[in-house]
Amino acid sequence: MARRKKVYEGKAKILYEGPEPGTFVQYFKDDATAFNAQKKDVIDGKGVLNNRLSEFFMKGLTQIGVPNHFIRRINMREQLIRSVEIIPLEVIVRNFAAGSMTERLGIAEGTALPRPIVEFCLKDDALGDPLVSEEHIIAFGWAGQQDLDDMVALALRVNDFLSGCFLAVGIKLVDFKIEVGRVWDGDFQRLIVADEISPDSCRLWDIETGEKLDKDVFRKDLGSLSDAYTEVARRLGVLPSNVTHATKPTLIN
Ligand code: UDP
Repeated sequence: MARRKKVYEGKAKILYEGPEPGTFVQYFKDDATAFNAQKKDVIDGKGVLNNRLSEFFMKGLTQIGVPNHFIRRINMREQLIRSVEIIPLEVIVRNFAAGSMTERLGIAEGTALPRPIVEFCLKDDALGDPLVSEEHIIAFGWAGQQDLDDMVALALRVNDFLSGCFLAVGIKLVDFKIEVGRVWDGDFQRLIVADEISPDSCRLWDIETGEKLDKDVFRKDLGSLSDAYTEVARRLGVLPSNVTHATKPTLIN
């Protein structure tokens, strides 16, 4: 059997050439990284959960008319996606203060923001993905003004959709990151949601207890990342409710 061609390998995913032109196969690894890959581990089953969760969110976005790269899930760890030209920016939406915003601005973690705040970071590991302004983005040509307007509009629609999905299962969407890609339909280009949407790229807190159910569990050594992601998947109905752990079988007496 011919070996398929690896197009790109990132920290948590691998992209392979897809079966048709204009497609990629996106493979979700179990690798977890934080602090610009200074902290690393392998979390059994994380890739399987993120593949299913990203499928769940992208399908929902399609159903409400938000364009995205998802075509179909292939197997436990892989999905077929549309190939896009990734805009080299991370688009972050914040509903409550957390993470770098609390450090940068001295705002207490968990403070409700007066409105969702959209931020852009340059995708550049060597520079530590620095926060950049719209002025920087236009001046250095990372995206145009229309792209910026479209990215903000997309990000806010994704925010409303995700906030509602999570609220329905007792989870507060504190903040999240998306990546956006450019596609051409004939002579027309448009921007669509790309990459992944999973607890790796969101901050998720239990509404009642404040328990963290996202990658901060790994960043801050707060417990089992696998248990946290399994709980998110279970609540959303992505895993059957009787599954309590993705990898460990339960002993029956
Ligand atoms: N985020 C991400 N990838 C990054 C940086 C941030 O997915 O490279 C997500 C992060 O999980 C959080 C949101 O974007 O949900 C805001 O992150 P923040 O700027 O607070 O940075 P962090 O504290 O995570 O370094």
